[in-house]
Amino acid sequence: MPLKFQATRAKSRFLDPFNKFAPKEVEVDIRSDPLSGDRSRILAFRYRDLGKIDHSLYLERDQGRPCPFCPQNVDKMAGRFLPELVPEGLLRRNEAVCMPNVFPYEGLSTVVVMTKQHYRRPGQIKAAQISDALLLAAESFRRLAVGLSYGSVNSNYMMPAGAGLIHPHLQTAGSRSPTGFQAKLQARARAFSRREGTDIVDAYLAHERQDGSRWLGRVGPAVWTVAYAPRGIYDLMALVPGGRGLLDLNKAQVMGLAQGIVRVLKFFERAGIGSFNLGLHTALRPDTGLYTMLRLVSRVHIPPIGVDEINYFEKLHDETVCFLSPEEVAQAIKPHWKD
Ligand SMILES: [Zn+2]
Repeated sequence: MPLKFQATRAKSRFLDPFNKFAPKEVEVDIRSDPLSGDRSRILAFRYRDLGKIDHSLYLERDQGRPCPFCPQNVDKMAGRFLPELVPEGLLRRNEAVCMPNVFPYEGLSTVVVMTKQHYRRPGQIKAAQISDALLLAAESFRRLAVGLSYGSVNSNYMMPAGAGLIHPHLQTAGSRSPTGFQAKLQARARAFSRREGTDIVDAYLAHERQDGSRWLGRVGPAVWTVAYAPRGIYDLMALVPGGRGLLDLNKAQVMGLAQGIVRVLKFFERAGIGSFNLGLHTALRPDTGLYTMLRLVSRVHIPPIGVDEINYFEKLHDETVCFLSPEEVAQAIKPHWKD
């Protein structure tokens, strides 16, 4: 049985106050993610222009607060690795600096500062800066993730996405056990492989290439699509076929991954998406069954009054609500997705 792209439709009927109380029927598209089993509800809302990115509120609140990630402060304000683990204290690669996360989420929890500049809009972050940060994250796993199997490289970009600092940075986590989401990916991949004798990533990408409506294409080692069952209004997903983890990619391939991310960031800037989460899931050992997935998910406040895109459905029912279909998002990004 091929990979299932399941969707059900719920119909809601009412008298429409916006149209002289004429009877109206609205459909909700409820999708199940073939990769994780998670559900998304696509609501047929009218698209709302998010306007231009406006970070002025956060920049104003940030005034006068010393930043531990700014180059002049790193040596005196940032945490350092234990000398027996990293004698040089910090890991560096061009502009990128890797340090322990002093507010850790895991046993192995680091921060990778991406830029010298304190503030960068999404479209200003360069592929070389992202590539250096990812290579440094990989180096931190190689040196510090002894005996650990599961890794992730993440980002909260700006305060609505959960960032504590404006300065662009990634956060890594390495663990013996998968996170809840990674465990779902792993379990489904194993079950699919047992049942079908083929790889779930290959099956997912074959379906999406054939369907075409969410397909963007390959950049470097990764194939990009708009997620079938999104985890946010905008959810751009890259999968790395062939079972390769971050630690298996060479410098040119990591640059390819970064170039794909830059395409998404430039699109986010054009679409007015000023806050987002990034998550790269990767195995740290070859036998884990976790494949490499990268997600860039919007965290917008919807105009005119700034409604958070996360509501009780996601917080309390574990289901995402989206006001745009993934197919519409793909239509919007495709003209700019160029080699
Ligand atoms: Zn800074």
